[in-house]
Amino acid sequence: MFIDTHCHISKEYYSDIDFILEGNIKADVNPIIISSSTPQDLKETLSLLATYSNLYASIGYHPEVADSITDDDLKFLEEHLKNKQVVAIGEIGLDYYYTKQNRDKQKKLFEQQLQLAEKYHLPVVIHSRDATNDTIETLKKYKVIGSIHCFSGSLETAKEYLAMGYYLGIGGVVTFKNSKLKETVKEIPLNRILLETDSPYLSPEPFRGQQNSSKNIPIIATKIAQIKQTSLEEVATKTTTNAIKLFSLGKK
Ligand SMILES: [Zn+2]
Repeated sequence: MFIDTHCHISKEYYSDIDFILEGNIKADVNPIIISSSTPQDLKETLSLLATYSNLYASIGYHPEVADSITDDDLKFLEEHLKNKQVVAIGEIGLDYYYTKQNRDKQKKLFEQQLQLAEKYHLPVVIHSRDATNDTIETLKKYKVIGSIHCFSGSLETAKEYLAMGYYLGIGGVVTFKNSKLKETVKEIPLNRILLETDSPYLSPEPFRGQQNSSKNIPIIATKIAQIKQTSLEEVATKTTTNAIKLFSLGKK
């Protein structure tokens, strides 16, 4: 049994969501945690949760929408945090790759959501791109833990997040030929790794460039097993245990 701890399921990407979810179950990837990042896809996420009882979700506002989030949007988010299938706040964070100009707005939105995580005792799913120092500095201000989604940083950064109690989400990038992530994965303990696809993006090799879905999780797990010279079963068991523990799956 595998858990995809971070993916995006939306009609925008998949014409037949039933087919995708059946494919995941056949590949033994179930449950999955879907992630929302904008007010629009939050609404779609909530309707998917109502339709499919085996789905979990992390809900929150991505830094890319930092300029447009209103107090009402935050209120709407807060109202749905008690939903039994909502297991985390995310993906939230900082992204200086596209623009640094709204850095203050990004930080404000990030902190507003970290405050909600503290208030409701929920873990967070962190998006951080070209913003490692500010992300770490901000997270240290709050008593929360969570997943560093799509982690692809250095071993030094990994160690810093691990010391803060965070888990590292490892996805398709670990299978890419020139990825340095392999060396980092080799050194970080299996009991702090979470599997994720970030689908429909970041398909693992040999499907790189194609549309991704959670059924590809075993490919990522196989690569991690190879790197850590252990069995696929061990990777499946440990990462599943990690996900259940961090997100308190089935306990809400
Ligand atoms: Zn994502």
